[in-house]
Amino acid sequence: MTFLTGWGRTAPTPAQVVRPRTTEELAKLLADRPRRGLIARGLGRSYGDAAQNAGGVVVDCADLDLGWSLDQESGTVTASAGTSLHDLMSALVPRGWFVPVTPGTRYVTVGGAVAADIHGKNHHVDSSFGAHVTSLTLATADGSIRVLTPGDRLFWATVGGMGLTGVILSATFTCVPVETSRFKVDVEQARNLDHVIELMAEGDHRYRYTVAWIDLLATGAHTGRAVLTRGNHALREDVRSAAPLAYAPRPLLTTPPWVPNGLLNRWTLRAFNEAWYHKSPRVRRGVIQSLTTFFHPLDGVRDWNRLYGSRGLLQYQFAVPDEGLETLRRIVARLSAHGVASFLTVLKRFGPGTPGHLSFPMPGWTLALDIPAGVPGLDRLLTLFDEWVAAAGGRLYLAKDSRMSAETLRATYPRLGEWREIRSSVDPDGVFRSDLARRLGL
Ligand SMILES: Cc1cc2nc3c(=O)[nH]c(=O)nc-3n(C[C@H](O)[C@H](O)[C@H](O)COP(=O)(O)OP(=O)(O)OC[C@H]3O[C@@H](n4cnc5c(N)ncnc54)[C@H](O)[C@@H]3O)c2cc1C
Repeated sequence: MTFLTGWGRTAPTPAQVVRPRTTEELAKLLADRPRRGLIARGLGRSYGDAAQNAGGVVVDCADLDLGWSLDQESGTVTASAGTSLHDLMSALVPRGWFVPVTPGTRYVTVGGAVAADIHGKNHHVDSSFGAHVTSLTLATADGSIRVLTPGDRLFWATVGGMGLTGVILSATFTCVPVETSRFKVDVEQARNLDHVIELMAEGDHRYRYTVAWIDLLATGAHTGRAVLTRGNHALREDVRSAAPLAYAPRPLLTTPPWVPNGLLNRWTLRAFNEAWYHKSPRVRRGVIQSLTTFFHPLDGVRDWNRLYGSRGLLQYQFAVPDEGLETLRRIVARLSAHGVASFLTVLKRFGPGTPGHLSFPMPGWTLALDIPAGVPGLDRLLTLFDEWVAAAGGRLYLAKDSRMSAETLRATYPRLGEWREIRSSVDPDGVFRSDLARRLGL
């Protein structure tokens, strides 16, 4: 048995981790019907317990390599579910193609991207990963391998379905043509939350990618002050380089294996936030940034989650519709007043979502914050926010969650019943199980 956690490193549970190399090996595993069920795992970048299965089997998909292909004309890619976006980008970008959606880390797999229906800074323009998938192969509980397309109900129960409909073997999706591996970026400071909301609402349509970093430790008239970063793919003429499509990133630093608890606290983060806010330009336009600087600055430090010490961290990410903006303001005000030390708080806008029954994004706004686990009063505060988010018609993101209740899930995912119906038709005995599924009664 191996103890597994999510990226937050909270709530470890033991499981038998298996790495099938062929679909036959996977079929045998399924036929064995492990007593505590099984769940697929990618690179373990979901924050909570989605890719854990206490006392059961966890299927690590890394060795289940069915190869990959790119149609250079159309930008259509077929990749094994265990392929990381890092490996894909390393192959695709030099050929002039970019993944349709990337999250804040490139160390996620195609399977994890589909199962969580991940979103990026381009959701307001391009929706989430599932919107670009044209077909999936899925190994289901009865051992069969099904090819699914967006016309199938099971396709949309799988997109965002957190691995609970089966093991995704591969996905076919369309990529974005690019002339360079760089981005042309505008950066500007916003003096408070209302200012950043105004800037985003007024100008986001001019950018494919936008995100605002929020300083939660600023108070008074500066509550919610932000650094807004927005950009588009740089064109050939924007980049003075003999190799405009060059892309070969590597982590630069490694976190030491042992870090004292409490390193990231209100005081160290206040100092960091001050420096970060004031280091950013008031307004700067047309800055050329590399792909890693623009999308994945955290990937520069390997295992940065260890900086939170042995207690780990949790991420709270919620979405609210446009009419729920007041709830976003209330939550930011309450977090600032409470002095919650969050190293990374980001605000994004969401456009139309996909038909995924359990897909998280909805048109409106989303705020995500990392918080050291064990902050006094945190659980009560977040439970209060759960109620506010539910009352505003919003929801929490399953891939980030480690603490919401089954009641909150029921109240906030209106298509849960429909999803359950599809899931029980394809897996009547509940072979696919995870800690998240048990916690939320999925
Ligand atoms: C620093 C950081 C930044 C992030 N930023 C974002 C962001 O901007 N946007 C966003 O949407 N997410 C973001 N995430 C979350 C991340 O994108 C998702 O949790 C993603 O699902 C992780 O992929 P993974 O391969 O690590 O999957 P895991 O974490 O291992 O698993 C996640 C889920 O996918 C399922 N799964 C994995 N592989 C398969 C498979 N082959 N078949 C069936 N199910 C499978 C698992 O069962 C589990 O339910 C971020 C995470 C980190 C750590």
